[in-house]
Amino acid sequence: MSSLTAFNQEDISEVGRDLYGFAAELYPICRSITGDGIRRTLSMISERTPLQIHEVPSGTKVFDWIVPKEWNIRDAYIVRPDGKRIAEFQKCNLHVLNYSTPIHKRMPLSELRPHLFTIPENPDWIPYRTSYYKEDWGFCLSHNEMLGLKDGEYEVRIDSTLKDGSLTYGECLIPGQSTDEVLISSHACHPSLANDNLSGLTVATELAKFLSGRDLRYSYRFVFIPGTIGAITWLARNGDAAKRVRHGLVLTGLGDSGHFHYKKSRQGDAEIDRAAAHVLAHFAKPSEILAFSPYGYDERQYCSPGFNLALGCLMRSVWGSFPEYHTSADNLEFIHPHQLADSFRLCAAIFNVLENNRTYRNLQPYCEPQLGRRNLYRPTGGESIGDEIHARLWVLNLSDGQHSLLDIAERSGLSFQTIHNAADLLMQSELLSLVPESDEQERTAKTKSSATAPR
Ligand SMILES: [Zn+2]
Repeated sequence: MSSLTAFNQEDISEVGRDLYGFAAELYPICRSITGDGIRRTLSMISERTPLQIHEVPSGTKVFDWIVPKEWNIRDAYIVRPDGKRIAEFQKCNLHVLNYSTPIHKRMPLSELRPHLFTIPENPDWIPYRTSYYKEDWGFCLSHNEMLGLKDGEYEVRIDSTLKDGSLTYGECLIPGQSTDEVLISSHACHPSLANDNLSGLTVATELAKFLSGRDLRYSYRFVFIPGTIGAITWLARNGDAAKRVRHGLVLTGLGDSGHFHYKKSRQGDAEIDRAAAHVLAHFAKPSEILAFSPYGYDERQYCSPGFNLALGCLMRSVWGSFPEYHTSADNLEFIHPHQLADSFRLCAAIFNVLENNRTYRNLQPYCEPQLGRRNLYRPTGGESIGDEIHARLWVLNLSDGQHSLLDIAERSGLSFQTIHNAADLLMQSELLSLVPESDEQERTAKTKSSATAPR
C-alpha cells in the first residue's frame, strides 16, 4: 500500500497555499442547501477532482424528510428613511436570512424589527441565520447598525425565488483494491463562512486529489452535500453504498487556530475512532477526543441507529464553542494556510493507519529470533535500544495472528508508523507472514459478537 505520510515541508507549504487560495475563491459565493450557490461550488470542486453531480427534485421523500423547494437569490437590501441602503446582500451575503422568501415593501421600523437578527455580544459582527423549513424573510446586521435605526418608513427588498427545483450534491469515488469504502463527508451549504464549511470542503477536495491514482486498499468516497438534508438524502438514495462503508470522517472546521478535536462515532471503539485517537495523540498535541453525542454535524445522520456507521467528526475548534462561529468573523482571516495544511496531513496520516492496519503472524514464535544475525539489532551489546528495535520486538511478540498493527502501536506506546516500518522490515527478513484479510475480518466479527453477546 502507498505510504500516505511522506511529505516534506515544501510539499506542505504548497498544499497550505493551495487550500487557502481555493477557500478564497469559494468564499464570496452565496451557498445554501439548494440553488445555484451550491451548484457553482460543486462545479469548482469538480475542476480539481471530478465529481458526479446529482440533482434530487423538490418534494422527494427522504426518510422522514422532504427535499425542500429550491432557493435562489439575486439581491437584497434595506433602504433607511434617509435614503441610505443598508444590509446590502451584494456587500455581504450573510445580510440576508438564508432561504428568505421574496419581499418588496415599505414598512415602519416596528414592522421591520422582528425580522432583524444581530449579535449584541459582538456588536460589529453580522450573524449567519437560516430559515430553511419555515417560510420567512429577514436580515442579519451588526448590532451597532441596528441601534442606529430611527423611526420612519423603510423600503425592504429581497429579490429571491423559492420554488420547485432540486437539491444538488456531488460525490466522487476513488477506487481501491477492496470495494469496502472509507466515506468522507463535508457540508457545502454555508454562504461566506470560511472555517465552518470551506475548510472542510477544501481539505476534502485536496484529499480526493491526493488519493486519486494511488494503490489503495480501500475505496474512498467523498461526498459534498448540504448539511442535514443532504446527508439524509444521500443515505436515503445510497443504502447499498452505506453498507460498504467500513470507516469514515465528517470533515469540518479545519482551518482555525484551535487544537484538534475528534468526536468518536456512535460505536465508540471503531477502527476509525482508534486510528484518529492514535494519530492525534502522536502528531497533534494538544488535542482532545470527544465522546459521541447526537448533536453536531452530519455524523448525526451517518450514526443514526438504522445505519450506525463507523464515522467520526474531525475538527479543530468545536462548533458553537468559539464566538466567531456562524458570524461574519468566520472569514478568510480566521483560517490560515498552515492550519489547513496540517489538517490535510493529519487526515492523510489517519488514512495511512486504515490502509496499513493489517495483522501478521510471527514465523519464529518459539523464543526470540536472533535479530543480530539479520542486522536487525544494535551493533554493540550493552547500548540501550531505540524505538526502531523496540518496535521490532513488539511486532514479533504480538504478531500471533490476533493483534493488528494498531493494537501493537497502542499497547507499545510507539507510533503506528514506527510499528508499520518494523513489520515491513520483519516481512522482508521472512520473520512474519501476513494474515489474509478474510481471517482478520472473521476475528473482528467474533470479538465484536462476544463483546455484545448477552451474558
Ligand atoms: Zn454551521
